[in-house]
Amino acid sequence: MSELISIAEAQRRVLEAVRPLESEDVPLAEALGRVLAFDLDSPANVPPFDNSAMDGFAVRAGPPGVLEVIGEARAGHPAAARVAAGTAIRISTGALIPEGTTAVVPIERAREGDRSGRRVRVEASAEGDNIRRAGDDVHAGELVLSRGAIVGPAELGVAASIGRATLPCARRPAVALLVTGDELTEPGEELDAGGIYSSNAFALGGLVERAPATLLFRTTVRDSAESTRDALGRALREADVTCVSGGVSVGPHDHVKPTLRQLGVTEHFWGVRLRPGKPTWFGTHDESLVFGLPGNPVSAMVTFLLFVRPALIALQGASPRIVRISAVLDEPVPLHPVREQAVRVRLSARDDGWHADPTGDQGSHVLTSMLGADGLALVPAGDGETAAGTRLDVELL
Ligand code: AMP
Ligand code: MG
Repeated sequence: MSELISIAEAQRRVLEAVRPLESEDVPLAEALGRVLAFDLDSPANVPPFDNSAMDGFAVRAGPPGVLEVIGEARAGHPAAARVAAGTAIRISTGALIPEGTTAVVPIERAREGDRSGRRVRVEASAEGDNIRRAGDDVHAGELVLSRGAIVGPAELGVAASIGRATLPCARRPAVALLVTGDELTEPGEELDAGGIYSSNAFALGGLVERAPATLLFRTTVRDSAESTRDALGRALREADVTCVSGGVSVGPHDHVKPTLRQLGVTEHFWGVRLRPGKPTWFGTHDESLVFGLPGNPVSAMVTFLLFVRPALIALQGASPRIVRISAVLDEPVPLHPVREQAVRVRLSARDDGWHADPTGDQGSHVLTSMLGADGLALVPAGDGETAAGTRLDVELL
Protein backbone atom coordinates (compact mmCIF):
# COMPACT_ATOMS: atom_id res chain seq x y z
CA MET A 1 0.00 0.00 0.00
CA SER A 2 1.60 3.28 -1.02
CA GLU A 3 0.56 6.38 0.86
CA LEU A 4 -3.01 6.35 2.16
CA ILE A 5 -5.21 9.12 0.81
CA SER A 6 -8.15 10.92 2.44
CA ILE A 7 -11.81 10.08 1.76
CA ALA A 8 -12.23 13.39 -0.06
CA GLU A 9 -9.18 12.78 -2.25
CA ALA A 10 -10.40 9.26 -3.07
CA GLN A 11 -13.85 10.60 -4.02
CA ARG A 12 -12.17 13.25 -6.15
CA ARG A 13 -10.03 10.70 -8.03
CA VAL A 14 -13.05 8.50 -8.69
CA LEU A 15 -15.16 11.35 -10.05
CA GLU A 16 -12.26 12.63 -12.14
CA ALA A 17 -12.11 9.25 -13.91
CA VAL A 18 -15.83 9.19 -14.76
CA ARG A 19 -16.82 9.68 -18.42
CA PRO A 20 -20.62 10.04 -18.60
CA LEU A 21 -22.38 7.30 -20.55
CA GLU A 22 -24.32 7.89 -23.78
CA SER A 23 -28.07 8.49 -23.76
CA GLU A 24 -31.03 6.44 -24.94
CA ASP A 25 -34.73 7.13 -25.38
CA VAL A 26 -36.71 5.63 -22.52
CA PRO A 27 -40.51 5.23 -22.58
CA LEU A 28 -42.09 7.39 -19.88
CA ALA A 29 -43.47 4.38 -18.03
CA GLU A 30 -39.91 3.10 -17.53
CA ALA A 31 -38.16 6.39 -16.86
CA LEU A 32 -38.71 6.73 -13.10
CA GLY A 33 -35.37 7.25 -11.37
CA ARG A 34 -33.43 7.75 -14.60
CA VAL A 35 -31.32 10.83 -15.30
CA LEU A 36 -32.31 13.24 -18.05
CA ALA A 37 -29.55 13.53 -20.67
CA PHE A 38 -30.69 16.76 -22.39
CA ASP A 39 -32.55 19.94 -21.54
CA LEU A 40 -36.18 19.64 -22.48
CA ASP A 41 -38.21 22.54 -23.97
CA SER A 42 -41.95 22.41 -24.32
CA PRO A 43 -43.20 22.34 -27.91
CA ALA A 44 -46.55 23.82 -26.87
CA ASN A 45 -48.52 25.69 -24.25
CA VAL A 46 -49.78 23.91 -21.15
CA PRO A 47 -52.68 24.10 -20.75
CA PRO A 48 -53.07 24.10 -24.53
CA PHE A 49 -56.17 26.36 -24.54
CA ASP A 50 -58.05 28.80 -22.27
CA ASN A 51 -60.29 26.68 -20.08
CA SER A 52 -62.65 26.90 -17.15
CA ALA A 53 -61.34 26.63 -13.58
CA MET A 54 -64.81 25.88 -12.27
CA ASP A 55 -68.08 24.19 -13.02
CA GLY A 56 -70.51 27.04 -13.79
CA PHE A 57 -71.55 29.35 -16.60
CA ALA A 58 -69.47 31.00 -19.30
CA VAL A 59 -70.73 34.60 -19.60
CA ARG A 60 -69.79 38.08 -20.61
CA ALA A 61 -68.46 39.70 -17.41
CA GLY A 62 -70.84 42.21 -15.85
CA PRO A 63 -73.46 42.97 -13.21
CA PRO A 64 -75.91 40.41 -11.81
CA GLY A 65 -78.66 39.37 -14.20
CA VAL A 66 -80.75 36.68 -15.77
CA LEU A 67 -79.21 35.00 -18.82
CA GLU A 68 -80.44 32.56 -21.43
CA VAL A 69 -78.51 29.26 -21.38
CA ILE A 70 -77.73 28.45 -25.01
CA GLY A 71 -75.49 25.40 -24.81
CA GLU A 72 -72.98 23.35 -22.90
CA ALA A 73 -69.19 23.00 -22.92
CA ARG A 74 -67.77 19.89 -21.23
CA ALA A 75 -64.16 18.75 -20.78
CA GLY A 76 -63.19 17.32 -24.15
CA HIS A 77 -66.45 18.52 -25.78
CA PRO A 78 -66.30 22.20 -26.80
CA ALA A 79 -69.56 24.13 -27.21
CA ALA A 80 -70.81 24.85 -30.69
CA ALA A 81 -72.35 28.21 -29.71
CA ARG A 82 -70.66 31.49 -28.81
CA VAL A 83 -71.46 33.64 -25.79
CA ALA A 84 -73.06 37.01 -26.44
CA ALA A 85 -74.58 39.61 -24.11
CA GLY A 86 -77.63 38.14 -22.36
CA THR A 87 -76.56 34.52 -22.89
CA ALA A 88 -74.57 31.92 -20.99
CA ILE A 89 -73.08 28.50 -21.76
CA ARG A 90 -73.08 25.83 -19.07
CA ILE A 91 -69.42 24.83 -18.57
CA SER A 92 -67.42 22.16 -16.73
CA THR A 93 -63.94 22.46 -15.22
CA GLY A 94 -61.31 21.98 -17.93
CA ALA A 95 -63.70 22.68 -20.81
CA LEU A 96 -62.51 24.94 -23.64
CA ILE A 97 -63.73 28.49 -23.04
CA PRO A 98 -66.40 29.22 -25.70
CA GLU A 99 -65.87 32.13 -28.04
CA GLY A 100 -67.15 35.43 -26.68
CA THR A 101 -66.72 34.39 -23.03
CA THR A 102 -65.01 36.89 -20.72
CA ALA A 103 -65.74 35.26 -17.33
CA VAL A 104 -66.99 32.07 -15.74
CA VAL A 105 -69.55 32.33 -12.94
CA PRO A 106 -69.22 29.34 -10.60
CA ILE A 107 -72.30 27.20 -10.10
CA GLU A 108 -72.40 28.33 -6.44
CA ARG A 109 -72.97 31.90 -7.64
CA ALA A 110 -75.74 31.07 -10.07
CA ARG A 111 -79.35 30.02 -9.58
CA GLU A 112 -81.17 28.18 -12.29
CA GLY A 113 -84.36 30.04 -13.03
CA ASP A 114 -86.77 27.38 -14.32
CA ARG A 115 -87.13 23.61 -14.81
CA SER A 116 -86.20 23.75 -18.48
CA GLY A 117 -82.70 24.87 -17.46
CA ARG A 118 -82.88 27.60 -20.12
CA ARG A 119 -82.54 30.47 -17.68
CA VAL A 120 -79.98 31.25 -15.03
CA ARG A 121 -79.61 34.11 -12.57
CA VAL A 122 -75.90 34.90 -12.11
CA GLU A 123 -74.09 37.08 -9.60
CA ALA A 124 -71.72 39.80 -10.78
CA SER A 125 -68.47 38.77 -12.46
CA ALA A 126 -65.30 40.53 -13.53
CA GLU A 127 -63.30 40.00 -16.70
CA GLY A 128 -61.13 36.87 -16.53
CA ASP A 129 -62.86 35.36 -13.49
CA ASN A 130 -62.23 31.59 -13.25
CA ILE A 131 -60.57 31.33 -16.62
CA ARG A 132 -57.25 29.44 -16.77
CA ARG A 133 -55.18 30.79 -19.64
CA ALA A 134 -53.31 28.75 -22.25
CA GLY A 135 -49.66 28.58 -21.18
CA ASP A 136 -50.38 29.39 -17.50
CA ASP A 137 -48.29 26.36 -16.54
CA VAL A 138 -45.77 26.19 -19.40
CA HIS A 139 -45.28 28.45 -22.40
CA ALA A 140 -44.37 26.99 -25.78
CA GLY A 141 -40.56 27.04 -26.12
CA GLU A 142 -39.96 27.27 -22.37
CA LEU A 143 -37.34 25.03 -20.67
CA VAL A 144 -39.21 22.62 -18.43
CA LEU A 145 -36.69 19.95 -17.38
CA SER A 146 -32.93 20.34 -17.15
CA ARG A 147 -30.27 17.88 -18.13
CA GLY A 148 -28.99 15.98 -15.09
CA ALA A 149 -32.39 16.05 -13.39
CA ILE A 150 -33.42 12.80 -11.78
CA VAL A 151 -36.79 11.78 -13.15
CA GLY A 152 -39.26 11.56 -10.28
CA PRO A 153 -43.04 11.40 -10.33
CA ALA A 154 -43.38 15.17 -10.90
CA GLU A 155 -40.91 15.07 -13.82
CA LEU A 156 -42.87 12.18 -15.34
CA GLY A 157 -46.09 14.18 -15.02
CA VAL A 158 -44.59 17.34 -16.53
CA ALA A 159 -43.04 15.36 -19.41
CA ALA A 160 -46.43 13.79 -20.14
CA SER A 161 -48.14 17.20 -19.89
CA ILE A 162 -46.02 18.49 -22.77
CA GLY A 163 -46.76 15.36 -24.81
CA ARG A 164 -43.46 13.47 -24.49
CA ALA A 165 -43.82 9.70 -24.90
CA THR A 166 -40.14 9.07 -24.21
CA LEU A 167 -37.32 10.84 -22.41
CA PRO A 168 -33.66 10.97 -23.43
CA CYS A 169 -31.93 9.41 -20.43
CA ALA A 170 -28.37 8.44 -19.70
CA ARG A 171 -27.81 4.74 -20.11
CA ARG A 172 -27.83 2.93 -16.78
CA PRO A 173 -24.32 1.76 -15.87
CA ALA A 174 -23.96 -2.03 -16.07
CA VAL A 175 -22.22 -3.33 -12.99
CA ALA A 176 -20.41 -6.66 -12.61
CA LEU A 177 -20.21 -7.81 -9.00
CA LEU A 178 -17.49 -10.30 -8.09
CA VAL A 179 -17.26 -11.62 -4.55
CA THR A 180 -14.08 -13.55 -3.84
CA GLY A 181 -13.28 -16.19 -1.26
CA ASP A 182 -13.01 -19.97 -0.90
CA GLU A 183 -15.02 -19.66 2.33
CA LEU A 184 -18.09 -18.19 0.61
CA THR A 185 -21.26 -20.27 0.65
CA GLU A 186 -24.63 -19.46 -0.93
CA PRO A 187 -27.45 -18.91 1.58
CA GLY A 188 -29.58 -22.04 1.65
CA GLU A 189 -26.60 -24.35 1.32
CA GLU A 190 -24.96 -26.29 4.16
CA LEU A 191 -21.95 -24.55 5.76
CA ASP A 192 -18.72 -26.56 5.77
CA ALA A 193 -16.16 -26.04 8.54
CA GLY A 194 -14.66 -22.60 8.02
CA GLY A 195 -17.39 -21.58 5.59
CA ILE A 196 -19.51 -18.42 5.87
CA TYR A 197 -22.49 -17.18 3.96
CA SER A 198 -21.70 -14.63 1.29
CA SER A 199 -23.44 -11.53 2.55
CA ASN A 200 -21.56 -9.15 0.26
CA ALA A 201 -23.12 -10.70 -2.83
CA PHE A 202 -26.52 -9.52 -1.62
CA ALA A 203 -25.71 -6.34 0.29
CA LEU A 204 -23.58 -4.97 -2.56
CA GLY A 205 -26.07 -6.24 -5.15
CA GLY A 206 -28.78 -4.30 -3.31
CA LEU A 207 -26.63 -1.17 -3.24
CA VAL A 208 -26.04 -1.47 -7.00
CA GLU A 209 -29.77 -1.70 -7.71
CA ARG A 210 -30.53 1.13 -5.28
CA ALA A 211 -27.83 3.40 -6.78
CA PRO A 212 -29.63 2.94 -9.19
CA ALA A 213 -27.67 0.90 -11.71
CA THR A 214 -28.08 -2.38 -13.58
CA LEU A 215 -26.64 -5.47 -11.92
CA LEU A 216 -25.24 -7.19 -15.01
CA PHE A 217 -24.06 -10.27 -13.17
CA ARG A 218 -23.05 -11.36 -9.71
CA THR A 219 -20.58 -14.17 -9.29
CA THR A 220 -18.53 -15.87 -6.61
CA VAL A 221 -14.86 -16.20 -7.45
CA ARG A 222 -12.60 -18.78 -5.83
CA ASP A 223 -9.21 -17.77 -4.43
CA SER A 224 -7.16 -18.89 -7.43
CA ALA A 225 -5.36 -16.87 -10.05
CA GLU A 226 -7.25 -18.67 -12.80
CA SER A 227 -10.81 -18.07 -11.60
CA THR A 228 -9.92 -14.49 -10.71
CA ARG A 229 -8.58 -13.93 -14.23
CA ASP A 230 -11.62 -15.51 -15.88
CA ALA A 231 -14.13 -13.52 -13.86
CA LEU A 232 -12.30 -10.20 -14.11
CA GLY A 233 -11.74 -10.72 -17.83
CA ARG A 234 -15.47 -11.17 -18.41
CA ALA A 235 -16.31 -8.19 -16.20
CA LEU A 236 -13.91 -5.91 -18.06
CA ARG A 237 -15.37 -6.98 -21.42
CA GLU A 238 -19.02 -6.56 -20.43
CA ALA A 239 -19.42 -4.04 -17.61
CA ASP A 240 -19.09 -0.29 -17.22
CA VAL A 241 -18.21 -0.77 -13.57
CA THR A 242 -16.60 -3.77 -11.94
CA CYS A 243 -16.85 -4.22 -8.17
CA VAL A 244 -14.75 -6.92 -6.57
CA SER A 245 -15.07 -7.64 -2.87
CA GLY A 246 -12.29 -9.31 -0.92
CA GLY A 247 -9.03 -10.76 -2.16
CA VAL A 248 -7.63 -7.28 -2.67
CA SER A 249 -5.13 -7.37 0.21
CA VAL A 250 -1.58 -8.61 0.01
CA GLY A 251 -1.91 -12.16 1.35
CA PRO A 252 -0.74 -15.17 -0.67
CA HIS A 253 -4.38 -15.95 -1.58
CA ASP A 254 -5.28 -12.42 -2.64
CA HIS A 255 -5.25 -12.54 -6.43
CA VAL A 256 -7.22 -9.46 -7.35
CA LYS A 257 -4.51 -6.83 -7.61
CA PRO A 258 -1.90 -8.85 -9.54
CA THR A 259 -4.64 -10.01 -11.93
CA LEU A 260 -5.90 -6.48 -12.49
CA ARG A 261 -2.37 -5.41 -13.27
CA GLN A 262 -1.97 -8.30 -15.74
CA LEU A 263 -5.24 -7.35 -17.42
CA GLY A 264 -3.99 -3.82 -17.96
CA VAL A 265 -6.15 -1.96 -15.43
CA THR A 266 -4.51 1.31 -14.39
CA GLU A 267 -4.35 1.95 -10.65
CA HIS A 268 -5.64 5.34 -9.42
CA PHE A 269 -5.38 4.64 -5.72
CA TRP A 270 -4.77 1.86 -3.25
CA GLY A 271 -5.58 2.50 0.38
CA VAL A 272 -7.73 5.17 1.99
CA ARG A 273 -7.26 6.78 5.42
CA LEU A 274 -10.63 5.38 6.41
CA ARG A 275 -12.02 3.00 9.00
CA PRO A 276 -13.65 0.76 8.06
CA GLY A 277 -12.41 0.50 4.48
CA LYS A 278 -8.66 1.07 4.35
CA PRO A 279 -7.87 -1.63 1.75
CA THR A 280 -9.83 -0.04 -1.09
CA TRP A 281 -8.45 -0.09 -4.61
CA PHE A 282 -9.59 1.90 -7.62
CA GLY A 283 -8.51 1.77 -11.24
CA THR A 284 -9.69 2.22 -14.82
CA HIS A 285 -9.57 0.13 -17.95
CA ASP A 286 -10.33 2.34 -20.96
CA GLU A 287 -13.56 4.03 -19.83
CA SER A 288 -14.61 1.31 -17.40
CA LEU A 289 -14.14 1.71 -13.67
CA VAL A 290 -12.83 -1.01 -11.37
CA PHE A 291 -13.26 -0.99 -7.60
CA GLY A 292 -11.50 -3.46 -5.36
CA LEU A 293 -13.49 -3.27 -2.15
CA PRO A 294 -12.51 -4.82 1.18
CA GLY A 295 -14.04 -8.22 1.95
CA ASN A 296 -15.28 -7.36 5.41
CA PRO A 297 -18.99 -6.83 5.01
CA VAL A 298 -19.27 -3.42 6.68
CA SER A 299 -16.15 -2.14 4.93
CA ALA A 300 -17.54 -3.34 1.61
CA MET A 301 -20.83 -1.49 2.10
CA VAL A 302 -19.23 1.68 3.47
CA THR A 303 -16.68 1.93 0.66
CA PHE A 304 -19.39 1.24 -1.91
CA LEU A 305 -21.48 4.07 -0.47
CA LEU A 306 -18.56 6.50 -0.28
CA PHE A 307 -16.88 5.75 -3.62
CA VAL A 308 -18.91 3.53 -5.95
CA ARG A 309 -22.34 5.09 -5.58
CA PRO A 310 -21.17 8.63 -6.47
CA ALA A 311 -19.48 7.17 -9.55
CA LEU A 312 -22.65 5.36 -10.65
CA ILE A 313 -24.59 8.60 -10.37
CA ALA A 314 -21.94 10.68 -12.14
CA LEU A 315 -21.77 8.11 -14.98
CA GLN A 316 -25.40 9.02 -15.64
CA GLY A 317 -24.59 12.72 -15.81
CA ALA A 318 -26.23 13.66 -12.52
CA SER A 319 -24.34 15.43 -9.81
CA PRO A 320 -23.38 12.82 -7.23
CA ARG A 321 -25.39 13.48 -4.16
CA ILE A 322 -22.70 13.52 -1.54
CA VAL A 323 -25.08 15.12 0.92
CA ARG A 324 -23.65 16.00 4.30
CA ILE A 325 -25.47 17.45 7.26
CA SER A 326 -24.11 18.62 10.58
CA ALA A 327 -25.24 16.61 13.61
CA VAL A 328 -24.46 16.34 17.30
CA LEU A 329 -22.91 13.00 18.23
CA ASP A 330 -24.70 11.58 21.24
CA GLU A 331 -22.02 9.13 22.41
CA PRO A 332 -18.24 9.44 22.73
CA VAL A 333 -16.33 7.68 19.92
CA PRO A 334 -12.71 6.52 20.34
CA LEU A 335 -10.54 8.24 17.72
CA HIS A 336 -8.15 6.52 15.35
CA PRO A 337 -4.70 8.15 15.25
CA VAL A 338 -4.50 8.42 11.44
CA ARG A 339 -7.73 7.25 9.87
CA GLU A 340 -11.01 9.09 9.52
CA GLN A 341 -13.89 6.90 10.71
CA ALA A 342 -17.25 6.34 9.08
CA VAL A 343 -19.46 5.64 12.09
CA ARG A 344 -22.89 4.29 11.24
CA VAL A 345 -25.50 6.42 13.00
CA ARG A 346 -29.22 6.78 13.37
CA LEU A 347 -30.39 10.35 13.04
CA SER A 348 -33.13 12.12 14.95
CA ALA A 349 -34.37 15.69 14.69
CA ARG A 350 -34.42 17.61 17.99
CA ASP A 351 -35.01 21.23 18.95
CA ASP A 352 -31.30 22.05 18.51
CA GLY A 353 -31.02 20.25 15.15
CA TRP A 354 -29.90 16.76 14.10
CA HIS A 355 -28.55 14.22 16.57
CA ALA A 356 -26.53 11.16 15.59
CA ASP A 357 -26.58 7.98 17.63
CA PRO A 358 -24.06 5.24 16.72
CA THR A 359 -25.68 1.93 15.76
CA GLY A 360 -23.63 -0.15 18.21
CA ASP A 361 -20.40 -2.17 17.84
CA GLN A 362 -18.58 -0.58 14.91
CA GLY A 363 -16.39 -3.58 13.99
CA SER A 364 -15.93 -4.04 10.25
CA HIS A 365 -17.39 -7.56 10.52
CA VAL A 366 -20.48 -6.45 12.49
CA LEU A 367 -22.88 -6.20 9.59
CA THR A 368 -25.88 -5.62 11.88
CA SER A 369 -24.38 -2.16 12.56
CA MET A 370 -25.66 -1.24 9.07
CA LEU A 371 -29.26 -2.02 10.01
CA GLY A 372 -31.29 1.15 10.36
CA ALA A 373 -28.26 3.38 9.70
CA ASP A 374 -29.32 6.75 8.29
CA GLY A 375 -25.84 8.08 7.72
CA LEU A 376 -22.11 7.80 8.15
CA ALA A 377 -20.76 10.21 10.78
CA LEU A 378 -17.31 11.21 9.59
CA VAL A 379 -15.10 11.31 12.66
CA PRO A 380 -11.71 12.92 12.03
CA ALA A 381 -8.49 11.18 13.07
CA GLY A 382 -6.94 12.16 16.40
CA ASP A 383 -5.99 11.10 19.90
CA GLY A 384 -8.37 10.05 22.66
CA GLU A 385 -12.06 10.22 21.89
CA THR A 386 -14.64 12.68 20.62
CA ALA A 387 -16.74 13.81 23.54
CA ALA A 388 -20.48 13.27 23.41
CA GLY A 389 -22.00 16.51 22.17
CA THR A 390 -19.39 17.06 19.45
CA ARG A 391 -20.78 18.34 16.16
CA LEU A 392 -19.80 16.27 13.11
CA ASP A 393 -20.47 15.98 9.39
CA VAL A 394 -22.78 13.09 8.55
CA GLU A 395 -22.96 11.74 5.03
CA LEU A 396 -26.55 10.66 4.39
CA LEU A 397 -27.19 7.19 3.06
P1 AMP B 1 -10.50 -10.63 2.33
O1 AMP B 1 -10.49 -9.18 1.98
O2 AMP B 1 -10.73 -11.52 1.18
O3 AMP B 1 -9.29 -10.97 3.13
O4 AMP B 1 -11.76 -10.80 3.31
C1 AMP B 1 -11.82 -10.12 4.54
C2 AMP B 1 -12.92 -10.69 5.39
O5 AMP B 1 -14.17 -10.50 4.75
C3 AMP B 1 -12.82 -12.18 5.65
O6 AMP B 1 -13.22 -12.44 6.97
C4 AMP B 1 -13.79 -12.77 4.65
O7 AMP B 1 -14.28 -14.03 5.05
C5 AMP B 1 -14.87 -11.72 4.65
N1 AMP B 1 -15.61 -11.76 3.39
C6 AMP B 1 -15.07 -11.70 2.17
N2 AMP B 1 -16.03 -11.77 1.23
C7 AMP B 1 -17.20 -11.88 1.88
C8 AMP B 1 -18.55 -12.02 1.46
N3 AMP B 1 -18.88 -12.05 0.16
N4 AMP B 1 -19.51 -12.09 2.40
C9 AMP B 1 -19.18 -12.06 3.71
N5 AMP B 1 -17.92 -11.93 4.16
C10 AMP B 1 -16.93 -11.86 3.27
MG1 MG C 1 -10.62 -13.48 0.86
